[in-house]
Amino acid sequence: MNMIANHPPTAELQALDAAHHLHPFTHGGELKQKGARVITRAKGVTLTDSDGNDYLDGMAGLWCVNIGYGRDELAEAASRQMRELPYYNTFFQTTHVPAIALANKLAELAPRDLNHVFFAGSGSEANDTNIRMVRTYWAEKGKPEKNVIISRKNAYHGSSMGSGSLGGMSFMHEQGGLPIPDICHIDQPHWWKEGGDMSPEEFGLERARQLEQKIEELGEDRVAAFIAEPVQGAGGVVIAPSTYWPEIQRICDKYEILLIADEVICGFGRTGSWFGSETLNIRPHIMTIAKGLSSGYAPIGGSIVCDEVAEVINNCEFAHGYTYSGHPMACAVALENLRILEEEGIVDRVASHSAAYLADKWKGLADHPLVGEATTIGMMGSIVLTPDASSRAAFAGDEGDAGLITREHCFQNGLIMRHVGDRMIISPPLIITDAEMDTLVERAWKALDLAHKQLKDEGKL
Ligand code: PMP
Repeated sequence: MNMIANHPPTAELQALDAAHHLHPFTHGGELKQKGARVITRAKGVTLTDSDGNDYLDGMAGLWCVNIGYGRDELAEAASRQMRELPYYNTFFQTTHVPAIALANKLAELAPRDLNHVFFAGSGSEANDTNIRMVRTYWAEKGKPEKNVIISRKNAYHGSSMGSGSLGGMSFMHEQGGLPIPDICHIDQPHWWKEGGDMSPEEFGLERARQLEQKIEELGEDRVAAFIAEPVQGAGGVVIAPSTYWPEIQRICDKYEILLIADEVICGFGRTGSWFGSETLNIRPHIMTIAKGLSSGYAPIGGSIVCDEVAEVINNCEFAHGYTYSGHPMACAVALENLRILEEEGIVDRVASHSAAYLADKWKGLADHPLVGEATTIGMMGSIVLTPDASSRAAFAGDEGDAGLITREHCFQNGLIMRHVGDRMIISPPLIITDAEMDTLVERAWKALDLAHKQLKDEGKL
């Protein structure tokens, strides 16, 4: 039987899944007990599960389905390319048309002198490339000791040994021997949680200046690069105070270190520009890309590299690459996705309309008694759950309890919203309509009401 074309009932699928499928970021025991949600199809911003229930996908999958689900043009681009040339590699002085075309398109879309692309299969792989590339860059310039990369606590840069080390998720570092050497982390610009009595502006400066302190502590001749997401995504859609990025840029300009902007979430229209670096006025030497590059229709990532770094790297043989670096089908799908984002004015519409519409609706959630603040940038947003907004208090019990309860009520009411601790976050497809944004916010409010009642009933409020 072809199980994909003609699938068995949900309970049977769940049993088979639990028996043979190991899931990322999932507690296996809990999964076995509850059974996985089985998503069978999707269209626009709506997902359908194996029992026929519909959900508004407030997360665009994992922050990636920027153009929405069900675009036949991408299926056709994949099919055409798979018939023409399903696979060839880009190693050893070989190339193919889809990789050439996509690299050229990305050089056109990326700002300033970011004109060169090293392809990977994912964001994690691309950040692994970045680690080796910046260290190789400095080694080629005769400074092999300049190899330390500074990142931030609570950053997310991927799950591989390298990218997981760049990330600052302590619960990830507890497993499997992370971080690798010569990567260190400064504090994050998370004012709500860590700002204490400081104003957001003072706090933003304090956190940015930690970069300068760290460079001086290590010595400028030891530091290769600083990496950061323009807006921390998996860390909870943490938008830095307005003073943060200008100060980071000043520090990067003053010291001879490379700036890597991890645009895996912020790229391809999410913040209302093609790249989050443009929205926040950052001038990186390298940008990590993935997710929205293909709207998740094909696995592809990469590093967009500035002229100066590319020139140095091109002077040696960079002994690095993946079987699927520049995979022809994935490149063809990404190109078609970029065509749609551009020609249908999807990125422009975020900037001229949808971001403001979402911001306006979303901020209304701050009036809910369970919510401390509700913020957005472009088409991503967060709300903080708190028992007392005025003191920015955390709940007495385990962090994340309230978030998990709220998330479950979202599911029950047809909305996919993720929780990071006690922050609820959204990042819907960029093509979401005004009416769908209204529905998203209505369902979020309803889930908050139900969570509020449950937390009270359970004595947690
Ligand atoms: N960087 C950032 C900012 C991300 O959000 C992610 C994925 N959530 C990654 C890197 C890793 O990408 P991937 O899962 O494709 O390896």
